[in-house]
Amino acid sequence: MPEEKVTPASNFLRNIIERDLAQGAFASRHWAGSPGDAAHHAAGAPDPAKIRTRFPPEPNGYLHIGHAKSICLNFGLARDYDGVCHMRFDDTNPEKEEQEYVDGITNMVHWLGFGWEKYGKSHLYFASSYFDFMYRAAEYLIEAGHAYIDQQSADEMRATRGTLTEPGKNSPWRDRPAAESLALFREMRDGKHPDGAMVLRAKIDMTSPNINMRDPAIYRIKHATHHNTGDQWCVYPMYTYAHPLEDAVEGVTHSICTLEFEDQRPFYDWVLERLAEGGLLAHPLPKQYEFARLNLTYVVLSKRRLIELVEQEHVNGWDDPRMPTLVGAKRRGYTPEGFRLFAERIGVAKADSWIEYTILEDCMRETLNESAERRIAVLDPLKLVIDNYPQDQSEDCHAPNHPQKPELGKRVVPLSRELWIEREDFAEEPPKGYFRLFPGNRVRLRYGYVIECTGCEKDEHGKVIAVHCNYLPDTKSGTPGADSIKVKGNIHWVSAAHACAVEVRLYDRLFKGPHPGAGDRNYLDDLNPDSVKTITAQLEPALKDAKPEERFQFERHGYFVVDSKDGVTGEPVFNRTVTLRDAWQK
Ligand code: ATP
Ligand code: MG
Repeated sequence: MPEEKVTPASNFLRNIIERDLAQGAFASRHWAGSPGDAAHHAAGAPDPAKIRTRFPPEPNGYLHIGHAKSICLNFGLARDYDGVCHMRFDDTNPEKEEQEYVDGITNMVHWLGFGWEKYGKSHLYFASSYFDFMYRAAEYLIEAGHAYIDQQSADEMRATRGTLTEPGKNSPWRDRPAAESLALFREMRDGKHPDGAMVLRAKIDMTSPNINMRDPAIYRIKHATHHNTGDQWCVYPMYTYAHPLEDAVEGVTHSICTLEFEDQRPFYDWVLERLAEGGLLAHPLPKQYEFARLNLTYVVLSKRRLIELVEQEHVNGWDDPRMPTLVGAKRRGYTPEGFRLFAERIGVAKADSWIEYTILEDCMRETLNESAERRIAVLDPLKLVIDNYPQDQSEDCHAPNHPQKPELGKRVVPLSRELWIEREDFAEEPPKGYFRLFPGNRVRLRYGYVIECTGCEKDEHGKVIAVHCNYLPDTKSGTPGADSIKVKGNIHWVSAAHACAVEVRLYDRLFKGPHPGAGDRNYLDDLNPDSVKTITAQLEPALKDAKPEERFQFERHGYFVVDSKDGVTGEPVFNRTVTLRDAWQK
């Protein structure tokens, strides 16, 4: 795992872990080298991992920036406290999961810089491999009088659940003999009943103020083929039952989830306690802690909306560089270091809030400023002719690859009579305070000579099509005469004879408002109509050798990454990751 330069700031989760470590709260745990029940672990050695956390996505979609927060948090805590973080696929729902998502998710967690190899073992797990244990645990709960088969219809169950202000009513099946529930449960498992005919419910308290404790369903019938277990099962555990058991068999110590699960915590503890009483699990049991999920301005993170954006073709797929998915962010040129810095910077809190998108962009700028080599690109090319420079001559100028890192050396930038400059670097009639090219003014060609503008050529519509100038031969950068003439402007350029014309995509935010869909607006109405602009830019010749995913700073413009035209192979293009400065700040 990567070494982080930043010292992690303290937060409530770190405080809890430090307290637990100081008290030896989890020191007595044994770990058998693989997940299992109490007996399995008891036969193993003391757990070498001081803590165990987990990242438990459902493999039913692509990871987004919110998941990155959870990944950095869980893997980061395990790294910092001499523990291990399990990569667990929560694939207990038979209908939704796909291998494509499993691969996509593991790739992105690796990309973020985290892994699950530790003590010579992989800690990649699938919750569906615990179905046997979950089933056995359910039988135990029935036998111990903690669960029963309810044959009420879904409507009846809903009607008797009560409300926030009214208690629920006991099911007529609640006190049936355990043996009867057990027999029915086995019939469910054996495929004797159709979907929805009955469910297994925990027997807790229909009058509890917490609705989640009013005899929640823990197993249901579902005649469906599972991607991992095939047709072996036609009963599947409910998420709220499965999740604590998954944590427990994996010896997880700190089970960190988002705030919406807070009301589930009493059930989490209840079910684990009951199974520990029965000897199926051992103390100390995992503990659940909740933190605020990431809400980011200018972004939607709900899976439903992301699917809509793709299906209604507002974007070109899940990995469109404007998507808040991690595959999209990667193609956009966002860096894993930037995400880790972001996670560290925003920290974790116990109350929901909004994080400004600029914070994420600043983290990307900071990491890219460190790592990206500088290059020259002219995005809106206008011809500049140096009239006193010989027609067939060219010469080398030298540009540093990184202004703060001389060890990265310099590269050759050829100069010749005709150059490309930015259209906005010339003004026939300069506005006040304009220091760039206008007739009679002198500027420096970055890494080259001082030039003096002599005029321009226009087409029949009055549009400037070329600018003319003369150069001052003794003023080349890096020579003794360089400072003999002082100028205020310094413009970038590429030699027309040496430049390469390449497609560049100028990406911007996908949504134009900070809270897409806030109030009663449709979030789609907040889409930014100018979230991408495709141009042909003139690039310095060194960029001809750029490799896919290589990132550069285009001087004065921002950070760009090499992508390919169709996102996979084919002609290279450059995607703008982020501008040098925030253009959205009001
Ligand atoms: P859904 O529940 O709609 O399927 P999800 O985004 O919750 O989608 P999961 O696969 O359940 O997807 O998420 C995996 C983990 O990522 C969970 O532990 C969850 O807490 C965490 N997570 C998801 N969204 C965010 C977010 N916006 N901020 C922080 N963590 C998140
Ligand atoms: Mg979820």
